Amino acid sequence: MLWARELIARRAPVRVRHVVAPRDELTERAKAAYFGLAIGDALGATVEFLTPNEIRHQIGVHREIIGGGWLRLKAGQVTDDTTMSLALGEAILAHGSVDAKSAAEAFDAWMKAKPVDIGNTVRRNLVLFRKTGIPEATFSEHDAGNGAAMRVLPVALACYGQPEKDVVFSNQAQAHVTHNNTISDAACETLIFMVHDLFAGRDLAEIRQQRADALVSRFPVFAFNKKRIENPSGYVVETIQAVFQAFFSTETFEDCLLDVVNRGGDADTTGAIAGMLAGARYGLEAIPKRWLSAIDGKTLGQCSAQATGLLALAGCAT
Ligand SMILES: [Mg+2]
Repeated sequence: MLWARELIARRAPVRVRHVVAPRDELTERAKAAYFGLAIGDALGATVEFLTPNEIRHQIGVHREIIGGGWLRLKAGQVTDDTTMSLALGEAILAHGSVDAKSAAEAFDAWMKAKPVDIGNTVRRNLVLFRKTGIPEATFSEHDAGNGAAMRVLPVALACYGQPEKDVVFSNQAQAHVTHNNTISDAACETLIFMVHDLFAGRDLAEIRQQRADALVSRFPVFAFNKKRIENPSGYVVETIQAVFQAFFSTETFEDCLLDVVNRGGDADTTGAIAGMLAGARYGLEAIPKRWLSAIDGKTLGQCSAQATGLLALAGCAT
């Protein structure tokens, strides 16, 4: 008996630490990931479709959230990467899980509200959903754009702690509304598992090996250790290559985002995805205050509320 009491007494403080501290930290990291997504989107949108040379000549190093760009954004305004993620997050919260029909309806309502930007594959397959009511696009080897990968964060949050097969199923429910494509699926799943690993504080070398390198083993087209990707297109492979190169070669939130957006091309989406990963990796304290205060306050409020709400759905409320 004495032995058992001693064991319980020794275990008690350990249990307290596991129940309280990591969940507080988890919420902070979830918020940082969502803020990172919005910041990368707003920062990158200014230089979307510019080449690195054009950025150098016009701006030097692009490092401030100033709006403009081809979309003529206000400073701090975000684009479809963030607003589609928020639409999906709302649908997940309303339904209580990731559901294809709810996601399709939310994306359709988002499109009706005339977003500042919309991808071609997203538009085409949402128009089709409006006609057919079927929330799954037809499989297409051509629909390998980054439009599903840019909005995986709410799925990552709602599915934190779930078995991998359930996560894969949930992601496909949202992704296939617009992008029913094997390469897109692989990219989405890799990003979600990386976010989970970063939330769990796993070793970065392990994450690189077991997620990024594993993706390349399954689909060699994603190899990102060869030539430097500049001017990445909206093809999900180039997006992931640019993001991984920036993410694994830098050691701060700011450097990661500056590296990826100054490559130009689809810079709002590479910025959004890199920002999500960097937020999950480095946490709230690492996000430059000037970037956080530059983002539209309503957007930040929605990101924060969804981070908390979606984690609660996953059974990880603080
Ligand atoms: Mg965008």
